[in-house]
Amino acid sequence: MQWSGWSLRLGRLAGIDLYMHATFPLLFLWVGFLYWVQTGTLGGVAFGLAFIGVLFLCVVAHEYGHALTARRFGIGTRHITLLPIGGLAMLERMPKDPQQEIIVALMGPAVNIAIALGLALVLTLTGGWTPMDPEAPLMIPASFLQSVLLANIFLAVFNMIPAFPMDGGRVLRAALSFRMGRTGATVLAARIGQTLALGFGVLGLFGNPLLILIAVFIWIGAASEAGATEMETRLRRKPVARAMITDFHILSPDSRLSRAVNLTLAGKQRDFPVLDGPRLVGVATQSAILRGLRDHGLEGRVADIMSAPVTAESSDDLATLLEALQQTPDARLICILHRGALIGVIDMENISEFLRIQAALQDR
Ligand SMILES: [Zn+2]
Repeated sequence: MQWSGWSLRLGRLAGIDLYMHATFPLLFLWVGFLYWVQTGTLGGVAFGLAFIGVLFLCVVAHEYGHALTARRFGIGTRHITLLPIGGLAMLERMPKDPQQEIIVALMGPAVNIAIALGLALVLTLTGGWTPMDPEAPLMIPASFLQSVLLANIFLAVFNMIPAFPMDGGRVLRAALSFRMGRTGATVLAARIGQTLALGFGVLGLFGNPLLILIAVFIWIGAASEAGATEMETRLRRKPVARAMITDFHILSPDSRLSRAVNLTLAGKQRDFPVLDGPRLVGVATQSAILRGLRDHGLEGRVADIMSAPVTAESSDDLATLLEALQQTPDARLICILHRGALIGVIDMENISEFLRIQAALQDR
């Protein structure tokens, strides 16, 4: 097991890394506490923990429903992370074809429905159905399997709320984009989601406070989805050459690290393209330079610390470039080529600058 930021890697299943967020165990503490308050027995606490454990196995199955369906459309999944509020399958990208997006979004809740149907069959065959306590249908159930069944139905229904970041929000957006552009569909879907969030918020004020939490969750999800799509629209069909840095320093493979240090301190550049004559042969990133200084001192050679360059063509559009940057988080600096020659570099900071300028021009 190893840590990656705030997440602990649990293992690899079906070729996808499974992570658990550091805050995830808090959920178990909270559930254990709730059952202790409600039942006052260790048996009750054990039941609560077993229940939430099994429930999260169902959540993992739900996320694999998305991930494995996306794989059928040629889209990989970077990882699946367990958060206290549910699971998150980090797809490399969302399918652009609305029909595929609908299928990928539906296959999560479909897994929960399948689990519920399977359990219903088992309960029917074994005569295990028991009447539920209407006061606390989930808290102190008569039957473990029956609770898991109900929880899976809840998961499916909850995820089909037509608002981002729920699966239902994606289905709604994809359905709308059959009739309008993807951007328009996202904006409309986000608006519907935020209206729903307001409704949940008002209901929450008078009823279950949990609804307020859901409302905030939906509101933020809708805003960030609309923002991401707007950003993509601003970057589409804008050639990389319009945003790249053309005033930059380079290193050669034979340069000493002292040269990199001087350039770093004298300016704002942190990562440097490495050129052998006219040919781009690598990139020296700041972290590699620092590591090199630790290992070899100022006399170390750039050739020993550089890594393979990530490149793009000057005619590529910025939206594609941003996608590439997000897919390879290690590639902080992208080298822009025109007919094989290096003509510029670009990083995340450039792209945000470009976006801020575009937004300012649009607000005039
Ligand atoms: Zn889902």
